Amino acid sequence: WKRVDFPWTKKLEANNRKVFGNHFFRPNQREVINATMSGYDVFVLMPTGGGKSLTYQLPALICPGITLVVSPLVSLIQDQIMHLLQVNIPAAYLSANMEWPEQQEILRELVSDVCKYKLLYVTPEKIAKSDTLLRHLDALYCRGSLARIVIDEAHCVSQWGHDFRPDYQGLGILKQKYPSTPVLALTATATASVKEDVVQALGLENCIIFRQSFNRPNLWYSVVAKTKKCLDDMDKFIKDHHFDECGIVYCLSRMDCEKVAERLQECGHKASFYHGSMDPKQRAYVQKQWSKDEINIICATVAFGMGINKPDVRFVIHHSLPKSIEGYHQECGRAGRDGLRSSCVLYYNYSDYVNYCENDLDCRRLSQLIHFGEKFNPSDCQKTCDNCTNMFNSIEKNVTNIAKQLVELVKATGQQHSMFHILEVYKGSLNQNIKKYKHDSLSLHGAGRHLAKGEASRILRHLVIKDILTEDVKKSDLYGSVSSLLRNLSAKLYAALRMLRTVLVKEAGDG
Ligand code: ADP
Repeated sequence: WKRVDFPWTKKLEANNRKVFGNHFFRPNQREVINATMSGYDVFVLMPTGGGKSLTYQLPALICPGITLVVSPLVSLIQDQIMHLLQVNIPAAYLSANMEWPEQQEILRELVSDVCKYKLLYVTPEKIAKSDTLLRHLDALYCRGSLARIVIDEAHCVSQWGHDFRPDYQGLGILKQKYPSTPVLALTATATASVKEDVVQALGLENCIIFRQSFNRPNLWYSVVAKTKKCLDDMDKFIKDHHFDECGIVYCLSRMDCEKVAERLQECGHKASFYHGSMDPKQRAYVQKQWSKDEINIICATVAFGMGINKPDVRFVIHHSLPKSIEGYHQECGRAGRDGLRSSCVLYYNYSDYVNYCENDLDCRRLSQLIHFGEKFNPSDCQKTCDNCTNMFNSIEKNVTNIAKQLVELVKATGQQHSMFHILEVYKGSLNQNIKKYKHDSLSLHGAGRHLAKGEASRILRHLVIKDILTEDVKKSDLYGSVSSLLRNLSAKLYAALRMLRTVLVKEAGDG
């Protein structure tokens, strides 16, 4: 789908430049556009900020007919329409809380011979509840003017997603009624179960799937233990690496936001603060100052960030711990949207218990991507995180025997238990599940009792990365924290066991 010789390629590139002002396509944008314009149903998984909107707005602009976009929130819809009108692409929306005459006006325009709209946005409720809308769509379809159906935030279809919306489940009706119109489903939610639900509920056939990595190669990650000199460190870091550049410092409390901003100002930075107890006007003013580069650094609570689209944020510093790895990934994701090198520094207290910070061996990217069900080979980090850079602090250790035992244990337990369970059996735990399955009677029960904390888990993870074990994350949403199931095909297993001559993992050295 990367090809640049489709009949529409020239027009596509010209409009991307002229209308949207983009010099290039971002990863997968061209591919998605080519697939949907070739008439296929397409499912797109792209991280927030990846540029999903362009993948349907550009085709909507250059194809005849109307693109129907289903989007969950009126506020999101209004935002999109504002952007479209700014670049002179005529678009409208229908929602239940609009006056009826206004809705009728839009519907009339929709089926007129010279309809001016290229895109019509609706909420899923509208599809579920408005026969009038469906009648008008029927009319469009019959005359071949329903160019494309876009389901934005498609994970809302799935009960396993974090934003389940019952009305999304009814959207399957669109494919039933308009089978020859291609459907484009877009989401930033990663798990395989969500994807399967979406494809099934929407009735997508021979669907082409684009799944984009959540890895952000231009971000440099590091974790620093927080001392009393944290603000001095921060000042020095910014001066050394990002002086006069744009950044965000995330703080836990309102007081911290103000304190950190004040200190950075004293050190000569153009900094200000942003938090929930400021009045909205003042908040908007600070955000505007920052957007226009009148100030460089904004010290903010996590309230700051939703809908922030500044491409040249060069650093995101966490003055205190983020709520979760997912949150951390998203907050860091606000840096470097223009693709240029940017820094993410996390300060943490030893009293904050987060495995991510305590871990001074494993690649930071790997530790994050695991949470998105993504496999990542740490050698691809190319030393862009502190742990991969500080290799001198580690040695390689031969753990072949442990690896063999773990693989055997996966086999002995029938290849249907979570990583957590395997590790518990190996450590010799006697928890309820272990007793229930009688796994305390296995010869390997407790075989890893002597290992250092986290070692068996690291080796197991390594085996998954090396494709020796397969992790089935399909049911992860069902089982919450006791997530991934391990399974592997026996033929592969025996081959793997034979191949397992040496398994090396990193381990802390003497420094
Ligand atoms: P998503 O919906 O995936 O979160 P958006 O569609 O809102 O992302 O795009 C995020 C930002 O990236 C927007 O400001 C958009 O204008 C910009 N963008 C999208 N595609 C490109 C591109 N090819 N080149 C430059 N900027 C782009």
